[in-house]
Amino acid sequence: MSTSTAVRLEHRFADALPELSVPWQADEAPAPRLLALDDALATDLGLDPAWLRTPSGLGFLTGTQVPDGARPVAQGYAGHQFGNYSPRLGDGRALLLGELGDVDLHLKGSGRTPWSRGGDGLAVVGPMLREFVVSTAMHALGIPTTRSLAVVGTGRTVQRETGQPGAVLARTASSHLRVGSFQLVRATDDTDLLRRLLDHAIARHAPAAADAEVPALALYENVVAAQAQLVAQWMLVGFVHGVMNTDNMTISGETIDYGPCAFLDAHDADTVFSSIDSGGRYRYGNQPLAAQWNLARLAEALLPLVHPDVDTAIPQAVAVLETFLPRYEAAWTAGMRAKLGLGEDADDALVTALVTDLQALLDANHPDHTGFFRALGDAARGDAEPARRLVLDLAGFDAWAARWLAAGPDADAMDRVNPVFVPRNHVVEAALTAATAGDLEPVRELVEVLRAPYDDRPGLERYRTPGPAGAYVTYCGT
Ligand code: AMP
Ligand code: MG
Repeated sequence: MSTSTAVRLEHRFADALPELSVPWQADEAPAPRLLALDDALATDLGLDPAWLRTPSGLGFLTGTQVPDGARPVAQGYAGHQFGNYSPRLGDGRALLLGELGDVDLHLKGSGRTPWSRGGDGLAVVGPMLREFVVSTAMHALGIPTTRSLAVVGTGRTVQRETGQPGAVLARTASSHLRVGSFQLVRATDDTDLLRRLLDHAIARHAPAAADAEVPALALYENVVAAQAQLVAQWMLVGFVHGVMNTDNMTISGETIDYGPCAFLDAHDADTVFSSIDSGGRYRYGNQPLAAQWNLARLAEALLPLVHPDVDTAIPQAVAVLETFLPRYEAAWTAGMRAKLGLGEDADDALVTALVTDLQALLDANHPDHTGFFRALGDAARGDAEPARRLVLDLAGFDAWAARWLAAGPDADAMDRVNPVFVPRNHVVEAALTAATAGDLEPVRELVEVLRAPYDDRPGLERYRTPGPAGAYVTYCGT
């Protein structure tokens, strides 16, 4: 493939739901420069990585040279932000280029759109590379996520607290349908449009739901199940999304919109990284409840399609919503069983007791989350010291560990689910600072490390060490 004209983009979303988008174009990028590219992802998508590095490839990745016949759109959606409803959000700085096979190809930082409100429509190098780094890590950890294909510097200076180098992120997703997409349509009272949105979502994410007695309820059940699984995986790995607004929750169950996100160092349910989350709404330990709250908003949006009589529809939707926490608990407990190296043969009651008591130990001792679980693998091999070093309550740990070791944990299995490497905040920060100043080497190295999170290798101590104690703050929407 040598030119962007050879790329075939489809426009199923734009064609099926013209009311939910406007045809739009990306802003010019005065001096495009490739900052990061996922070669393997490009190849999977049928895109030639060598071509993507050419001027025509960079034009494609910034949306300034679209393939013949391509019709990029800015998508509309609504959403609850920190609990307050915003009827008009939408792609304020993003474009859906189209679909490449099964996946959306989407740009972030591509210029102002009708949904920009007061924003400049732009994005800068640090936050776009943060999304590249963290989404790459999440994918390597086996957690459903949108993927980052490339980050291209635009050569434009963007005004933030200071002037910052501009960038465009190209990402893929199994779709960009969000809870907020349904909220936008529900607010119009257009039941036909709501049904078309439902049909589109079902076709893309839950084809079997089309044949269900109540397809809306079947789709809802799918979303509830996918989100329960997703949030359980976040909790197991110590990921804090940071801005779980309903416009940042997908119908597919993929993690989306890496803004003020970060991984725990010390395990603490109250951890907040986002500068704007002063109430702690999206703190680590509240993520399951935040997800459940969002899913209640999705139920409200779907009600007219569940049953025309609202008094009949509500109890049906509530019954599905009520499965969220049990599903979450089951997924989380299964994940903890695996993290503790206990197989299917381990007694359920024993596993539940071990998991509950370990959680209490973590809450009281605040050990480094990633380091502690990895060190339990050493404990399973007979050396408990690395794990003991991370806790204060040694008697409590020893008593727990004796019970756990008696259950016969499989250390090798543990090493396959307890990562050595997650994006450590201090490492990410240093790499992004270097990249903003023009040195891409630290980001490149970090991405390489994070692509094999379970393989311990020598010489990478720096990447596995927690940062200095104290609050780490990230900023969103920048
Ligand atoms: P977020 O919660 O960061 O995903 O974004 C919330 C909303 O703000 C979305 O509608 C974004 O498109 C919009 N937004 C964020 N940053 C900008 C920007 N620089 N210019 C225009 N819109 C923006
Ligand atoms: Mg968003």
